[in-house]
Amino acid sequence: MDHAGRRARSATRCLDAGIAALLLAPGSDLTYLSGYRIFSSERLTCLVLGSDGSATLVVPELEAPRAAAAAPDLRQATWSETADPYALVASLVRQPGAVAVADQMWASFVLRLQQRLPDRTFREASAITRELRMRKDRAELEALRAVSAAADRAYVRALDLEFAGRTEREIGADLAALLRDEGHDEVLFTIVAAGEDGASPHHHTGDRKIRTGDAVVLDFGGTRAGYGSDITRTVHVGDRPSDELVRVHDVVRRAQAAGYDAARAGATAQSVDAAARAVIADAGYGDFFIHRLGHGIGLDGHEHPYLVSGNDQPLEPGMAFSIEPGVYLPGRFGVRIEDVAIIGDDGRCEGLNRVDRALATVR
Ligand code: ZN
Ligand code: ZN
Ligand code: ZN
Repeated sequence: MDHAGRRARSATRCLDAGIAALLLAPGSDLTYLSGYRIFSSERLTCLVLGSDGSATLVVPELEAPRAAAAAPDLRQATWSETADPYALVASLVRQPGAVAVADQMWASFVLRLQQRLPDRTFREASAITRELRMRKDRAELEALRAVSAAADRAYVRALDLEFAGRTEREIGADLAALLRDEGHDEVLFTIVAAGEDGASPHHHTGDRKIRTGDAVVLDFGGTRAGYGSDITRTVHVGDRPSDELVRVHDVVRRAQAAGYDAARAGATAQSVDAAARAVIADAGYGDFFIHRLGHGIGLDGHEHPYLVSGNDQPLEPGMAFSIEPGVYLPGRFGVRIEDVAIIGDDGRCEGLNRVDRALATVR
């Protein structure tokens, strides 16, 4: 990954936007611009990227070896256990203008930085990084391709699991193990939503026993080399899905296909949502598709661009996003089908999840 190039482009954008420096605590912007990945803790780690192109990683002394190993090309400023890291960060902001902090920086850090930089306006770093991160480079697209293929393989193996008589939680644990076995470094979520639980799109996988006759929504993903997977398939336990489940599943599948057809370079994000939504509305289920069609994906599981009404962002080559229509019938069942897709160099939309989208039956 070309971290130095990304820092140079960010610095140029800062200069144009009147931003003196980006201040990036642990999180995806820091990783994007340095390769360094670390948990957030009360000890401040902060990349100070000046509009003059200077880059310094402020890092607690005890984490200096780890930071140096992950980002050997970055200048470090270490602080010892009793020093004031906020004053150190402030001393590194030398250009005129505002400062932009990581969108998900802890409030306790932001408030202390505001005390040390009382004359600066504070902004969100996404004002600079969003435009860059939305357009994935070749290495990022390869990472997304690899992690999506791994999720596909995990799903194929999940079809051999025994569902009936086991709990959502047990299936969730199996899915997590399959993701790891297929090359994920981290499992971020396993939604297993059986029967009426499927009507809650972000159901918390629990102790409900799965029974023959249930539709089960499986939505799972994690990361490999920092980049996320996110796939949903809906399966039926037993050989005889109800006519209504078959009908709703077909509507959702056609909605997803319409989303794929509409997604191309130049189309707006909202037009893709509208194309898929129209299929569901025409089938009479419009009131039961209660979320946007999709979200961008990359270092974060949800990022720009969002496929949602009101977003007139045109799609461009290098953008990556989910296409995930659903129908949720309260008290009964839900159906969702989700792939991660990208816009290729030719301007066409390409699905990275290719595993069968048909209503599968499981034991
Ligand atoms: Zn979701
Ligand atoms: Zn998902
Ligand atoms: Zn998703």
